[in-house]
Amino acid sequence: MSSALAIDGGSPVRTTLLPYGRPSVSEDDIAAVSTVLRRDFLTTGPEVTAFEKDFATAVRSSHAVAMSNGTTALHSAFHAIGIRKGDEVIVPVITFAATANAIVMQGGTPVFADVDDALLIDPKDIEQRMTKKTKAICAVDYAGQPCDYDALSALCAKHKLLLIADACHALGAEYRERPVGSLADLSAFSFHPVKPITTGEGGMVTTENTAYAENMRKFRHHNLSLDPEERKQRGSWYYDIEEIGYNYRLTDIQCALGRSQLKKLHHFMDRRREIAMRYDAAFAMLPGLSPLIHKEHRSHAHHLYVVRWAQDAFSVNRQRIFQALHAEGIGVNLHYTPLHLLSVYRSMLDTREGMFPKAEAAYAEMLTLPLFATMTDRDSDDVIAAVTKVHKAFVR
Ligand SMILES: *Cc1c(COP(=O)(O)O)cnc(C)c1O
Repeated sequence: MSSALAIDGGSPVRTTLLPYGRPSVSEDDIAAVSTVLRRDFLTTGPEVTAFEKDFATAVRSSHAVAMSNGTTALHSAFHAIGIRKGDEVIVPVITFAATANAIVMQGGTPVFADVDDALLIDPKDIEQRMTKKTKAICAVDYAGQPCDYDALSALCAKHKLLLIADACHALGAEYRERPVGSLADLSAFSFHPVKPITTGEGGMVTTENTAYAENMRKFRHHNLSLDPEERKQRGSWYYDIEEIGYNYRLTDIQCALGRSQLKKLHHFMDRRREIAMRYDAAFAMLPGLSPLIHKEHRSHAHHLYVVRWAQDAFSVNRQRIFQALHAEGIGVNLHYTPLHLLSVYRSMLDTREGMFPKAEAAYAEMLTLPLFATMTDRDSDDVIAAVTKVHKAFVR
């Protein structure tokens, strides 16, 4: 390996790009899906019920309602708590856009709060964002690390707000020995291929509240009211619709994959943790590089490995570092552009640069490195070699 950077014409650490995330699908998953394809029920059948039951057990919640993806899971959760025009929901300014978009889908208004050193919503920043219109807080377990649920629950109790968890990164993580999925009024998950487990596309909402669960089952199925009494009197064809609903159903095919994947969640998490620890050990030796901090009283799902490159420690900016790593064959990524800088929210909420200093400082310095359960030790060695090489070239 040449020490010249690949962006300067040197030879790259890898010749094939290592993606930042990749699904872990194996023969047992394929067999589970094939079984369903030979049955009559491809949707709204027994696999959906069974996946919901398995999932509720895994996260120790009373109800789990399957949804077509993480975004529709969030939308259904905001619908269930009655978010509508004029209502405000406080969300962290660093998250995937779907967190805030789902509030807008219900006619509500997202209100951004700044993040802490772990890029989790900062409970200390929330109170000043509250108005008479605030109805809920939506916390995001960024990178797979649970938020400060005790602090958030206390704030919600004090101000009579509901707590929604966008737990799309954090399936399998725990806060004070309680699983993510059992910590908020409603928790939303995603099964997109890069997430902790996958169904191709898919999502889930968990809750302790039976009325919310029923609301979401109806909402995902066009809001059809299938009142058993009415149907007995009028005929089994009968239904009514009082409010527009959606088709947000997850198929039996996908749920079979989800059940098979869920069995392996802890194996996937163990492997992710192993790789994260290899990275931590290697990067501890490189000044100016800092992985996100792990906070106490919680376990981490290691969905994303995010590392900050201190601006004043390098001769180039993060953009150049990103390009240099990419040229070395490392599929770096960036999670996420702070929401207040997206055009849609700039015009909707009149946001601009300077409003969220902590998020903006992080945005200027952070990168996501590859991390997924099927990564080999060789793959992680390549990441470490490329980071070390790029660090050496640019450190002051
Ligand atoms: C992936 C993700 C979503 C959306 O999930 P989809 O299944 O892609 O719709 C929402 N919020 C966060 C934080 C996510 O990472």
